[in-house]
Amino acid sequence: RAKSSGRAQYHVFDPDMHFKAIQILELENDLRRAVEREEFLIYYQPIISLATGKIAGFEALVRWQHPTKGMIPPTEFIPAAEEIGLIYTLNIWIFKTALKQLKIWQKHSAFLENITININLSARLFSYPDFGAVVDNIIAETQVNPSYVELEITESVIMENNDIVRGILQQLKQKKFKLVIDDFGTGYSSLSYLHSFPLNALKIDKSFVKRMQDNQENMGLVPAMIGISHSMGMLTIAEGVETQEQLAQLRTLNCDLAQGFLFSQPLKQELVLDFIASNPQW
Ligand code: C2E
Ligand code: MG
Ligand code: MG
Ligand code: MG
Repeated sequence: RAKSSGRAQYHVFDPDMHFKAIQILELENDLRRAVEREEFLIYYQPIISLATGKIAGFEALVRWQHPTKGMIPPTEFIPAAEEIGLIYTLNIWIFKTALKQLKIWQKHSAFLENITININLSARLFSYPDFGAVVDNIIAETQVNPSYVELEITESVIMENNDIVRGILQQLKQKKFKLVIDDFGTGYSSLSYLHSFPLNALKIDKSFVKRMQDNQENMGLVPAMIGISHSMGMLTIAEGVETQEQLAQLRTLNCDLAQGFLFSQPLKQELVLDFIASNPQW
């Protein structure tokens, strides 16, 4: 047992930490196997145009269908996948699978011709030299028009402040992909710096949308965020919209797009066409 007198207690062997280490190892082994066996599923959450009240597109959100542990949310395995370098294979698989799916939907009916897909990109992807070529291959294989594809990156990607990232983003923009800053407001980017990137939209983090309600008078920071986004010539997407009040407030503020449980949970792929066919409108 470690010495218990003195100022701090140093445990030479902490059973709790040992247990955690084993859990992490297990998770890593499981993940490697899961990537090989493609145990992942993509769910699709509708994004609503506030001007029309109709579905503008879907965000692809990955889940892990674990053989014994059930459905595992991305927050519980993406960080580990990043740590052990599996994120590249996984995120490229998500990218390609979601674009194939988009193509199927777009071909399904004239009504769906113009729907978009949002793909989350881990910051780690940008450090792989063949990322650009892989993206070109995905486009060639799926025949999706990149102007229907919105790539979501977090502020941290941009704050890395390196020419490689800037170069890749410019290339993606030239290929006609749309670029979206996800979880806007949770990072530390300066506005003028953000403005120097070729971005199409800011997605306001759900924590700000949540606080809007508690702050009826000025709706917290959301009006300012929408103002900033529009003054930089970008669209604004609100995430985590759960109530009619929030929806009404966002409409008053001329927010362009919204997504959240009020409209729909992320849906299994098989349920998406039924959902669209029910002709939901807000
Ligand atoms: P995100 O991109 O900000 O995605 C939004 C998260 O909010 C999703 O959680 C979604 O299910 C959840 N959400 C949607 N509507 C509401 C709502 O009204 N209220 C609340 N409280 N939550 C809502 P999810 O699917 O668990 O994903 C969590 C995060 O995992 C994502 O945050 C994203 O950062 C990451 N992620 C998901 N899929 C991928 C992926 O394919 N690649 C990468 N690199 N990351 C992914
Ligand atoms: Mg996202
Ligand atoms: Mg987000
Ligand atoms: Mg978020």
